[in-house]
Amino acid sequence: MTDPTSPLPQQNTLPARVDVLVVGVGFGGLAALHRLRTDHPELQALAIERGEGAGGVWRENDYPGAACDVPTSLYSLSFAPNPDWSHTYGRRHEIHAYLRSVAADFADQIEYNCALTSARWDGDAQEWIVATTRGEIRCRFLVAAPGALSEPGLPAVPGADEFTGTMFHSAQWDHSHDLRGRRVAIVGTGASAIQIVPEIVDTVGHLTVFQRTPAWVVPRVDRNIGPLERTLYRRVPGLHRLVRRMVWTYREAYVLMMARNPKLLPIAKSIALAQLRVQVRDKNLRRRLTPDYTIGCKRMLLTNKWFPALQRNNATVTGAITRLTARGAVDDAGREHELDTVVFATGFTPTQPPIAHAITGRDGRTLAEAWAGSPRAYRGVEVHGFPNLFFLYGPNTNLGHSSIVLMLEPQAYYMSKAISELARNGHSAFEVTESAQERYNADLDPELERTVWNSGGCSSWYLDSTGRNSVMWPKFTSDFRRMMASFDAADHRFDDAIPVASTTAGDTTAPATDSDTERTVAP
Ligand code: NAP
Repeated sequence: MTDPTSPLPQQNTLPARVDVLVVGVGFGGLAALHRLRTDHPELQALAIERGEGAGGVWRENDYPGAACDVPTSLYSLSFAPNPDWSHTYGRRHEIHAYLRSVAADFADQIEYNCALTSARWDGDAQEWIVATTRGEIRCRFLVAAPGALSEPGLPAVPGADEFTGTMFHSAQWDHSHDLRGRRVAIVGTGASAIQIVPEIVDTVGHLTVFQRTPAWVVPRVDRNIGPLERTLYRRVPGLHRLVRRMVWTYREAYVLMMARNPKLLPIAKSIALAQLRVQVRDKNLRRRLTPDYTIGCKRMLLTNKWFPALQRNNATVTGAITRLTARGAVDDAGREHELDTVVFATGFTPTQPPIAHAITGRDGRTLAEAWAGSPRAYRGVEVHGFPNLFFLYGPNTNLGHSSIVLMLEPQAYYMSKAISELARNGHSAFEVTESAQERYNADLDPELERTVWNSGGCSSWYLDSTGRNSVMWPKFTSDFRRMMASFDAADHRFDDAIPVASTTAGDTTAPATDSDTERTVAP
């Protein structure tokens, strides 16, 4: 969350009240704005965004080499297909440009440089009172779309205040800091680190990678999408959709490996080990780069450039960082490395989202207090005690195998559907019952227990502080889409004090079949 004291424009140009307030303009926020415009033109919807522009995680993460490790065919909103991707795996700058271009269509509904600082449910008025860096705004429905991978997770390394060099997190890259010739450390070996290291190794004087746990790395089969192919996609949208569906189908099969049948994992392991053997000839280094947990337990990393970069003459792989000193950092063998710059590629805090501390529900508890370290929701978007709140990219909606966009659009669809139900029945507020939320999680938890994320012998950001997997969705994206296509009134309690204006224009009748669903939600 943006520091409320940061120098943002102070004049309040916000309306006093809107029907729906969307917080965050990344993929999730844009999916919500689209659904609201399409299904509920009668409602006044506004989005606020803490940044100067749209893009969410793709605005924040602008480190060297930032790119997508999910095929770009799946990395666009279904209502805004993009035939112009340059590669099968999109580069960060083009994904960011794509999101900004989609957001331009909603320009009159977005307030940038406006961060939520708190939100409180007013039970008497049946609405949310939202404080922002630009003043207060009230809304009937609050749609939180903060994303999961924008808030830097900075480890508390002893001695950090002694270090006299430059330090920053990968998601807050200091572009004013020239790395040429410098002694640079990268802390971490996750998806961010493996993209950064090959990009900077030839620029820096010396690169030290502090590796606490080696990662399973598989080849990245990327290719240019030439002008002819792009023209074809533009002129024959059906072909573009067909390619998207084919890519979606084969990526769905990954779930079988990670969540259903771990016996298939050795296939991925043998591919990873083959790449390691071919690219790393030094047996000692190879041993240090070989993980001891089951492949897939942490996110499998896609790159052909990581191992070659680690073997450059000016690169060193060492153990975990234990402390910082005035001159550098000490590894777990007690050796001090002299450094000018330390980059923390140490990930994010998705199970402790800062916005959860800012949202206070019906009984005066914040979301963070209700979750007590282990986020739980109903269908990933609703939380008992928090009426009229939709939390996009909420608990157990992340994927290990496909595009998050395929999960966000059904969530936006569900939001729209719920609002329609409320309007139709003359209710003013709804809230999932405690028993429905408990039942939902009681069904989900055993499914998660069987997955490689829970049982693969690693620690990862999928597991929260209680050890529970509150991040991943363990089934197919089509299962999620089907679940989100209907709103179950029996799982909710309703308030009737101030009805939402009933309208047929806002009807989002449940799609009966997959092909109907495709009209509204990806793929
Ligand atoms: P990450 O996967 O959470 O990796 C963090 C790394 O930092 C790990 O190697 C971890 O070591 C290390 N680390 C964390 N705390 C540490 C500490 N106190 N001391 C030493 N090492 C520490 O973070 P990430 O690489 O930023 O990626 C996060 C997620 O963002 C990914 O899983 C992915 O979903 C997404 N992402 C996607 C793309 C893309 O291409 N679409 C690119 C980048 C990121 P341990 O393994 O020992 O914990």
